[in-house]
Amino acid sequence: MARRRRLNRRGKIAVGLLVALTAALFFFLGGNDKEESQKPVKSASAGVVEEKPILEKSDLYLTFDDGPSEESGRLLDILNEFNMKATFFMLGPHMENHSEVVKRMKEEGFGLALHGTSHQTEEIYSGPLAPLHEMVEAQAILEEQTGVKSSLIRLPYGSVPYLTVEMRGNLSQKGFRIWDWDIDSRDWELKDERFIQHTMERIEHMIAAGEAPVVLLHDRPELIDYLPELLTFIKDKGYKTGILTQEMQPVTFHCEGRCHAYVANEG
Ligand SMILES: [Zn+2]
Repeated sequence: MARRRRLNRRGKIAVGLLVALTAALFFFLGGNDKEESQKPVKSASAGVVEEKPILEKSDLYLTFDDGPSEESGRLLDILNEFNMKATFFMLGPHMENHSEVVKRMKEEGFGLALHGTSHQTEEIYSGPLAPLHEMVEAQAILEEQTGVKSSLIRLPYGSVPYLTVEMRGNLSQKGFRIWDWDIDSRDWELKDERFIQHTMERIEHMIAAGEAPVVLLHDRPELIDYLPELLTFIKDKGYKTGILTQEMQPVTFHCEGRCHAYVANEG
C-alpha cells in the first residue's frame, strides 16, 4: 500500500509537472502569436476605436518601382553599405533583361514584388482580366529566375484611379496582394535633391505619429545618386528598414483623400 501511495504521489507530481509545462508552452506560443500577428486590430485612443493595419516591426519600408535597371547593382551596393532593406516592384521585361541582379536581390534578402509587364495604362487597364494577366506573367518570370513565387503587386500609377472593382476582385481572387504607398517621394517628378528633402520630412512626420511609412521610389539610374542622402538621414535617425511580406496587411489607396489630389501620379 505504501509503495502504491508513493507511486501515486509520483504519478501526481508527474501529471502536475506535465500540466505546468503545457500551460507554460501554451502561454509562450500564445504570446508569440499575438506579437507576430499581422492582422488588423482595434486600437482605442481618446475614446475612439479605429481599425489599423499592423505592419512588421520595422520603422519604414522603402520600395523601388519600374526596375530592375542597368544600375540596380549599384542601388543594391548603396543599400548594403547602409545595411538597409527595400522591396522591388519589378517589370517582367526588365527582369528578363537584368536577371543577374534579380537573383542577387533574392540572395541578399531584398523584397521581390511585381509591377506587371507593359506599364502602359492603355494595356494594363484595357479589360477586367488585363492586370491579372500581366501580374501572372511577371510572377512566372520572377519565379523562373529566383524560385520565388511572389504575390506582392503594385499597379502602375497605383491602384487609384485606374483599377476597377472588377479588376481588383480578379487579382484578389488569385491571391495577389495589392500594395500602394503612403509617402510618394516625388522623385520622378522633382528629379533633384528636393525629393529627398520632401521625403525626409514626410518620413519623420509619419514615424513621429506612430505610423510605419511605405515609401515610393523608382529604380532609375538618374535617381540613384540622391539615395545616399536619404539613407544617411534614415541611419542618423536610427530608423530600421524592412521588406514587405505576404503576411502583412497591404497599404492600399481608398479613393477619398487621393483621387482628387494625384490623378496623374507616377507609380
Ligand atoms: Zn511604375
